Amino acid sequence: MPGEQPREQLVKLNTNENPYPPAPSVGEALRDYATDHLRLYPDPTSKALREALAETFQVASSQVFVGNGSDEVLALAFQAFFRHGTPLDVPAITYSFYPVYANLYGVELRKHSLSEQWEIDIDALGTETNRSGVIFANPNAPTGHAHPLSAIETLLKRVTDRVVLVDEAYVDFGAESAVALINRYPNLLVTGTFSKSRSLAGLRLGYAVGSEELIDGLLRVKDSFNSYPVDSLASLVGIAALKDVEHFEACRERVITTRERTRQRLEALGFEVLPSKANFVLAQHPDYEGAQLFAGLRERGILVRHFNTSDLNNFLRITIGTDDEMDSLIEALETLL
Ligand code: PMP
Repeated sequence: MPGEQPREQLVKLNTNENPYPPAPSVGEALRDYATDHLRLYPDPTSKALREALAETFQVASSQVFVGNGSDEVLALAFQAFFRHGTPLDVPAITYSFYPVYANLYGVELRKHSLSEQWEIDIDALGTETNRSGVIFANPNAPTGHAHPLSAIETLLKRVTDRVVLVDEAYVDFGAESAVALINRYPNLLVTGTFSKSRSLAGLRLGYAVGSEELIDGLLRVKDSFNSYPVDSLASLVGIAALKDVEHFEACRERVITTRERTRQRLEALGFEVLPSKANFVLAQHPDYEGAQLFAGLRERGILVRHFNTSDLNNFLRITIGTDDEMDSLIEALETLL
C-alpha cells in the first residue's frame, strides 16, 4: 500500500514529497503551455526533455529514457531486463515497489539482509551466477543510507554479465550519483525522478540513464510504436525545472539543513535516528512502539509513515518538511513521550 494521500489540513510528512514549491520558471512554462502547446500532440521522442536531462548529466540524449514517474521506468526495467525463473538480487529492506513489480512480471527475488547498521550489504549482491540482475536504491529507502560511488564501482567490476539497476530517487539530498559510471559499465542503469528534489511529484516524471543498449531495451518493451509515454506538459515543466539550477540547489540545501537539525532534535528526545542522505529519516524510540507514536502524531494532525513489517515495526519514517513543520513534529512528540 502506498502512503496515505490526505486532503484535510495535516502536517504531511509521510510520502517524501518536497515541502517547497518547484522553480518559478515552472509557473511561466505552465502559462505558456495552454496557449502554445495544449492543442498539439506531444513529440513522440520526448527529444527536448531527453536533451535537457542529457545536458544535466553530461551524457548523450540516446542514453536517456523518460517515463511517467520513475515507478513506470522501474516497471519497464523489470519487464525488459529481469527474467522469469532466474532470481533477482535485492536487499531485504528496500523500496516496497520492487516486490510488487517482481510479482507482476513473475521475477523471483533473492533477498539479502542488511547489516546491523541497517546498511545494504553491497558485497553480497551479485555474487551468485544464476541471477538475472541486481536492484537497489541509493540512498536506500526507507533507511536513508547511501553507499559511496567507490562501493558501487566495486560491485560493477564484479557483476558484468547482467543489469545492475541503481534507483537514485533520493540522490540529490547528499549522495553520489552513479551516472558518472555509465560510460564505463554498459550494464549499469540508473533511475531518477522529478518527484523529490525537483518538487514535481504531482507531474509523474521519471527517467533512466544508461548505455544505448539498455535504453533500447527499455524502448523495446514500450508499446505505442516506440514512442515515449511522457506528455507535452510534463516535458515542458520538467525542462523548466532542470534549467533552474539555483532554485534546485537552494531547495536541497534547505532540506539537508532541516534534516540534520531534525535528527539532532529527535536524538535529544531519545530516538535512535539512522544517518540519512535522503529527504527523510528513519527513527525509533527505545521506550515506545512505532504504532503508538504514529497514532499519537496522527491525532495531533501530523502524518508520518509507519511500516507494518516485523523488521521495521518499531520505526517511523519521517519526511523532512519545512522548519515550521518539523517544529510541530517535535512539539507533538514532546507531548507524547
Ligand atoms: N524509488 C524510490 C526509492 C522511491 O521511494 C520512490 C517514490 N516514493 C520511487 C522510486 C518512485 O518515484 P516516482 O514514481 O514518483 O518517480
